Amino acid sequence: MKKVDIRKLVKPSVRTLRAYEAKEIPCRVKLDANESPYAWDPAKFAGVSSGIKTNRYPDPEAKQLRRIVGKRFDVSPESVLPGNGSDELIYYLITAFGGPVLYPVPTFSMYGIISQALGERGIAVPLDEDFDLPLEKMLRATRKEKPKLIFLSSPNNPTGNCFSADRIMKIIEKSNGIVVVDEAYQPFSSAKGFLPLLEDYRNLVIMRTLSKIGLAALRLGFLVASPELLAEVNKVRLPFNVNSFSQAMAATVLGDPKRLTASVRAVVSERGRLLEEMKKTEGVTPFPSEANFILFRVKNAGELYQALLKKGILVRNMEDGIRGCLRVTVGTPRENSAFLKVLRSALER
Ligand code: PMP
Repeated sequence: MKKVDIRKLVKPSVRTLRAYEAKEIPCRVKLDANESPYAWDPAKFAGVSSGIKTNRYPDPEAKQLRRIVGKRFDVSPESVLPGNGSDELIYYLITAFGGPVLYPVPTFSMYGIISQALGERGIAVPLDEDFDLPLEKMLRATRKEKPKLIFLSSPNNPTGNCFSADRIMKIIEKSNGIVVVDEAYQPFSSAKGFLPLLEDYRNLVIMRTLSKIGLAALRLGFLVASPELLAEVNKVRLPFNVNSFSQAMAATVLGDPKRLTASVRAVVSERGRLLEEMKKTEGVTPFPSEANFILFRVKNAGELYQALLKKGILVRNMEDGIRGCLRVTVGTPRENSAFLKVLRSALER
């Protein structure tokens, strides 16, 4: 066999990269990926695929979808750029604007992973002890490193809190680069969100996704920003990045916002119950959440993770980023009760 040292051929920045962990771990109750526990009724989509010509490429500009999303967010269709999940849009932003890329940590790991994959420098600034933005440190890094892009996930994954709105504002005002407010979890939050500020700040980008509200299978995320900014991002977009089925299904779903709101409300209500029950559980320190998951600290996170999994409950081990912490996604009432029961019995041992 011909001998080729593949590792030597790979770009140095990719050689040291670790692939994003998205493994399928068999379990009874899946509470690890911040998905919605509520799927859409397949009957709702029965007619959708019949209008699709499978031999043709999708609408390259996703015109109908952009129109519907624009209406929902009260912006023009030109202010919306859909992607194959917001992950793809992060890729496009970093490809178009380059680095350095600044973000607080712990946060969504893809900002760092994609920066490294594209050979751009990621600058990670630790959050303060309340998991809020360390404003002075962020501003200092902005002055010194002049990041082209700043990613702020608010509510933040995995901590669950929203960053102080006035601190986000200060960063948008003081930065000469692009500030992306990643609002993947905004539907679950009581905070207002940053869409209304788009008119006043040309360097602001809002990122949204359908993945957390029952449609992760579609892989659909959106950038909302000025048409001028999106025109630059659009240059690096792969043609036909959103397939016909996702375009059509999303248009159907977004046309029925009542159902979307009902499932989000159910999750928010269960989040309240789950948090209260976790607070009552000895040995567990849960952190308040504005998202569809709860971060919690325990004495022996690694062992507890395994004990939960042994009983079929899959959560996310966050020990890589935050010592002693696990993250549980809010499920259905039944799933949450199953989690609480196993959690308590595992901690009693
Ligand atoms: N942003 C944040 C903060 C997330 O937590 C996630 C998903 N874990 C994403 C973006 C990616 O979402 P999508 O499924 O749209 O790629």
